[in-house]
Amino acid sequence: MAKGITKRSEDYSKWYLDVIAAADLAEHSAVRGCMVIKPNGYALWENIQRQLDNMFKETGHENAYFPLFIPESFIKKEAQHIKGFSPELAVVTYGGGKQLEEPLVIRPTSETIIWSTYAKWIQSYRDLPILINQWANVVRWEMRTRLFLRTAEFLWQEGHTAHATEQEAIEETLLILDVYRRFAEEYLAAPVFTGVKTAAERFAGAIDTYCIEAMMQDKKALQGGTSHYLGENFARAFDVTFQDENGENKYVFATSWGVSTRLIGALIMMHSDDNGLVIPPRLAPTKVVFIPIWRDDSQSDMLKAKITALTEGWKGRISFKVDDRDQYRPGYKFNEWEKKGVPIRLELGPKDIENNQVVMVRRDTGEKMFVSQEGLLERVENLLATIQQDMFNRALVFRDANTYDEDNFEAFRNRIEDPGGFFWVHWCGSPACETRFQDSSKATIRLIPMGESKKEDGSCIVCGQPSHTRVLVAKSY
Ligand SMILES: [Zn+2]
Repeated sequence: MAKGITKRSEDYSKWYLDVIAAADLAEHSAVRGCMVIKPNGYALWENIQRQLDNMFKETGHENAYFPLFIPESFIKKEAQHIKGFSPELAVVTYGGGKQLEEPLVIRPTSETIIWSTYAKWIQSYRDLPILINQWANVVRWEMRTRLFLRTAEFLWQEGHTAHATEQEAIEETLLILDVYRRFAEEYLAAPVFTGVKTAAERFAGAIDTYCIEAMMQDKKALQGGTSHYLGENFARAFDVTFQDENGENKYVFATSWGVSTRLIGALIMMHSDDNGLVIPPRLAPTKVVFIPIWRDDSQSDMLKAKITALTEGWKGRISFKVDDRDQYRPGYKFNEWEKKGVPIRLELGPKDIENNQVVMVRRDTGEKMFVSQEGLLERVENLLATIQQDMFNRALVFRDANTYDEDNFEAFRNRIEDPGGFFWVHWCGSPACETRFQDSSKATIRLIPMGESKKEDGSCIVCGQPSHTRVLVAKSY
């Protein structure tokens, strides 16, 4: 066990916070529920942001920025929306030395301010679609907070699109769901289930909320991203209409979608171990650390020169660091980079120079290899790709080994406690049975799957009424 990190098996929650501290990702701020994201944590967010931003742009979206303050009357215009968000709102009532005429809500999400603006932008079918994303911070006054997973202020992206037809808006919602799934699988190395939320779990003001759900190492679910089909709800609230090709006036169809700094919490909880953070290579700010190992100072210059020669041409191709600090011993350095989750460590000592080799160590498995100095960069790049794939595969094997079909309610209630996991169960669709799940097990219906994979006839695990599909049930973050 690494110094200062509680074992996962002892206390998973404590372990999570210890990993964040050990990797120097974030800390609590003077304001309760808010966090300071430190350079190591922010670099991770930047990589997440960069990749997602590329994916949004490849699918035709552009970025814009809307204000932090929303007139209180805007928030109140959509009935479900205000109902869902009112307990979490932070409201400014005082500004410029006096009471404001109308209180300003600090955005918990931006549908209302954006749709009040779209009302001015949209007149004709020629103005559609609008495909806008915003990178921003939002505030939700959470009572129980946890670094990255739930904070009063957090960073996110929120897409807000406007369409002429329902079909086009639904296609957009599903397109983004697929972007989130691909990002999770290919970058976070996180296998996810995709599906639609029940009415009780839906975004406030949405017709349908789609989501991706991943399994953490404690077998709980984490919702990584949501994509909402909003129908005409916000267009009606803000009177956003357009003239179609036949000159008829129609309401505009909307979507919104987002992922947040929560993804960093997911990354930590899925992949890290008792020695600290483990980062999927494609998101690692530093992919390789190269450490010279000398016994006496006379060797240090020779080793540093050799590393400079070996890493020639690496700049611009791969992000790497050479840790040649004199004041620390190799063991200390190994430990430090291990805690921070750098995917590959390279070591070079005088013996290695004699043997024309380098020591290459994987962060994810701890495996140590002696490799030739020839073609080192290619070896490193290949290993990074292997680590990325292996991390995904391990997470997939873990999830599948802890995901079950269950048809008996009492057995379900026992098994959700021990051993825990994801359970596919039959549900009749009634809110009463959904409530019984939650009350009796603290688990929730995470999603109703799309497609055919879980479509089968059965009977509701709670009431015995007919069911035509299994739904995914788990405890969650
Ligand atoms: Zn039922």
